[in-house]
Amino acid sequence: MSGLEGLPIRDDLRGLSPYGAPQLDVAYRLNTNENPYPPSPELVKALGEACADAAASLNRYPDRDAIALRTELARYLTSESAAPGQELTTRQLWAANGSNEVLQQLCQVFGGPGRTGIAFEPTYSMHSLIALTTSTGWVRGERAADFTVDVEAARAAIAEHDPSLVFLCSPNNPTGTALELDDVRAVYEAASGIVIVDEAYAEFRRAGVPSAITLLPECPRLVVTRTMSKAFALAGARVGYLAAAPEIVEALQLVRLPYHLSSLTQAAARVAIEFRDELLYSVAALRVQRDRLLTELPALGCPVVASDANFVLFQVPGDQRVAWEALLARDVLVRDVGLSGWLRVTAGTPDEMDIFLAELGRWMKSTTPGAPGAMAGAQ
Ligand code: PMP
Repeated sequence: MSGLEGLPIRDDLRGLSPYGAPQLDVAYRLNTNENPYPPSPELVKALGEACADAAASLNRYPDRDAIALRTELARYLTSESAAPGQELTTRQLWAANGSNEVLQQLCQVFGGPGRTGIAFEPTYSMHSLIALTTSTGWVRGERAADFTVDVEAARAAIAEHDPSLVFLCSPNNPTGTALELDDVRAVYEAASGIVIVDEAYAEFRRAGVPSAITLLPECPRLVVTRTMSKAFALAGARVGYLAAAPEIVEALQLVRLPYHLSSLTQAAARVAIEFRDELLYSVAALRVQRDRLLTELPALGCPVVASDANFVLFQVPGDQRVAWEALLARDVLVRDVGLSGWLRVTAGTPDEMDIFLAELGRWMKSTTPGAPGAMAGAQ
């Protein structure tokens, strides 16, 4: 940090470190909740052709309003998440470079100096960081011991602080916990400001778990954010989006940079939606591995939190940093989210899960003699 001290940077940014998981060169990267399945050769070909078409007019700015992409996203969300009879429209959709940019735009419009956001932690740490970088005040609400949102405590905190922005995350990162719609509704009714449900991992939810998208018709201050980085396996293209009332989307135009979403990004995202059956097929496989983690980790002596996402939070004996280092030494990178005694692992391919479970099992056996044993995951 010493190099920055001479710069006239904002006081509230002094001493901060840039956000980001370590990008280490390891064989098994299970730390950023990416989708392990690369695009198929057919999809790579289609992406190449679409980007070549877009490249032919790169002398021109892109469609500033990304109408074609937003229309296709509306159609996708209507089929994936809407209630029977509910139809999302282009005017309800907005897209940007990753859902982080969408969240930043929301803070720019509805937060800012003199205003406050609240979230219930542990949750996705970019929510508070984006609030900070947009000079939005922050209230740190807390989840219950089992990592669910204590709705009564949430309502009390909202009544006390009257936040302009309430951040919910379902399924929640890093715990995997999904919210009941009644709980979202209760928080929404307690708030007078914008309520965001970050559904970055929505496609991985268990059958029967509804999306907050279904609440949009009755909740005009509700915003649901999504991403193509996870289920769509498109993290490298940087595409995130939201669904909300058309007025909220209109308000976002006040802060979006002109031409923020490149023609190449728009083209790639549209191809991915076209290939959604193929891409979302991997979701079923990842759910199987997620469910496998939920049963095999406890068999190794590591309690888990129930997960509706493509990752699982699990408990390790002692200091989680020791377990993290031990796995890294075995070429397996998981995420230390700073929760004492817990680590997060991303559901990957069956082979990746075999290795992860076998290595963790061996470590458990070596540190806790008498633990249930290394063989449970070592097929
Ligand atoms: N929300 C949550 C809960 C996340 O975990 C992430 C990524 N880790 C994001 C949003 C941001 O994703 P992206 O910017 O890639 O869309």
